[in-house]
Amino acid sequence: MTTVEPRIHVLSIPTPFPVGPVNVYLLEGEPLTLVDAGPLTDEALEALANGVRDLGYSLADIEQLVITHAHHDHFGLARQVVERSGAALLSFHQNRLPLEDFETWWAQRVAFVAELVASEGAPKAALEDIKVMSGFQIYATSVPEVTPLQDNDRVQMGDTTWRAIHTPGHALGHLCFYHPESQLLLSGDHLLRDITSNPVVETPRVGMRRRPRSLPDYKRSLHRLRELEVSKVLPGHGEPVHDHRALVDEILTHHEERGRLIWELLKAKDRTVYELGRALFGEELPGVELFLVMSEIIGHLDVLELQGKARRVERDGQATWTAIS
Ligand SMILES: [Zn+2]
Repeated sequence: MTTVEPRIHVLSIPTPFPVGPVNVYLLEGEPLTLVDAGPLTDEALEALANGVRDLGYSLADIEQLVITHAHHDHFGLARQVVERSGAALLSFHQNRLPLEDFETWWAQRVAFVAELVASEGAPKAALEDIKVMSGFQIYATSVPEVTPLQDNDRVQMGDTTWRAIHTPGHALGHLCFYHPESQLLLSGDHLLRDITSNPVVETPRVGMRRRPRSLPDYKRSLHRLRELEVSKVLPGHGEPVHDHRALVDEILTHHEERGRLIWELLKAKDRTVYELGRALFGEELPGVELFLVMSEIIGHLDVLELQGKARRVERDGQATWTAIS
């Protein structure tokens, strides 16, 4: 049996976010496929069109666009690509709301985040900073229709067939794609070499009784990826990774140490998420950074709560966390 190696190319697309450029992958063959698209900016569209052209195609040739997760830097340009090419757009079924009605979803998300950080101890002044998130709406727009994918679906991308692996954590509807024959893994933002992939607090979706627990989900997904035989990880940002198990172990250790630190802080005295953030990261926590810090701490508190080591006590809409030793 001859193994077909994916004909896969990486395009580096600029973003206006601190994370830096995003990696978009072009897979040659039938259907000509893009994995992710970049944010909705003129610079990103130009870089995408030029990158595709340098490989001998135009955006109009794209037959399929696969979105790893519903974050601006990955799907912002999706509509532009679909409009120019008529490409089918595939993503995890949970991404239908954010992708098909992005404006509504983003407004809901900003409102949810504002309420959450307020109940977890952020002062009023900090809440004003959170509103900068509303401005991020310009970096993405809704797409007409998503073809929904399920966990373990087989997806033909270019010459080769990949397996969709649902890896919630960094984003609820996050998918990685695995090609068993070449052992390549398209990891989206779940596994990144130089950046800690922040398991961001998620908005509950229709039918959910509570918000998803992002860090416990993220760790479970890491364990799942660790089981795979992987020769090379092709991530959503930065350089490829060759020893994915070492990276998974490093990330798990990092989270374990941080979790322990938070537990120690709680054992010393009860604190709000905001107070824990200041104790860990310093006094100045502006805007989006504040949300990311609080998000990370909430993740660790979710883990501690599931382990029976911490408890959330809410009084008059204000939560305090307490250690159970
Ligand atoms: Zn990203």
